[in-house]
Amino acid sequence: RGIVVAVDGPSGTGKSTVSRQVASRLQLSYLDTGAMYRAATWWSLHEGVELDDQAAVAAVVRAMPLEMITDPHDPHVVCAGTDITEDIRAKELTEVVSKIATNLEVRAELKRLQREILAQEARDGRSAGAGVVAEGRDITTVVAPDADVRILLTASESTRLARRAKERHGVADLATIEATRDEVLRRDADDSTVSNFMTAADGVLTIDTSELDISQVVEGVLGAIAD
Ligand code: C5P
Repeated sequence: RGIVVAVDGPSGTGKSTVSRQVASRLQLSYLDTGAMYRAATWWSLHEGVELDDQAAVAAVVRAMPLEMITDPHDPHVVCAGTDITEDIRAKELTEVVSKIATNLEVRAELKRLQREILAQEARDGRSAGAGVVAEGRDITTVVAPDADVRILLTASESTRLARRAKERHGVADLATIEATRDEVLRRDADDSTVSNFMTAADGVLTIDTSELDISQVVEGVLGAIAD
């Protein structure tokens, strides 16, 4: 059976980049669970349901024809035959994703799907016996508390804001950091009402990435896996 590596943390910790690189290096699959919440949001909008109508959203999400392509070199999200990999990153969608992610029936359904994917990847892997790196907010605690390796990535608030501002606007200055504040901090606050991704659960290794670059964090995670 292949290994399962669980990586959690808030945005601006380098979680996605690090998880993808670790998966590539070890020839593991890569599962971005945030992309699944984004896909559920895209699908709810596509189906025209009112996002505040929790029962209606849960019903459409249960019927969502979602396909996650878990190749770390080229991860893709396909829904109803449409490649939505780019569309689910849009600002307008990012602003409302927490509405879907705080819907407990949606979380139950996505947890079920995620566990199904992890079980299959741990069985098949990309090369026999390999496994999967799964990243999100509740992987170490809820989706895969029994993962072989569990890691929480953290960073100071100012570091996270600066990284996200640079990602969004190409430069981190007072104006772009201010423009990014709501996206990062309001979303963290909303998401925190349903998952605890700011402090490590028992047995979870914390890596504070504030003073590290991506390759140093990758080495840290690879070291934890090798132990
Ligand atoms: O990581 P990313 O920013 O793509 O995640 C998008 C959203 O998905 C988060 O803001 C959060 O609402 C939700 N999410 C979650 N649980 C996870 C992963 C993401 O609730 N495991």
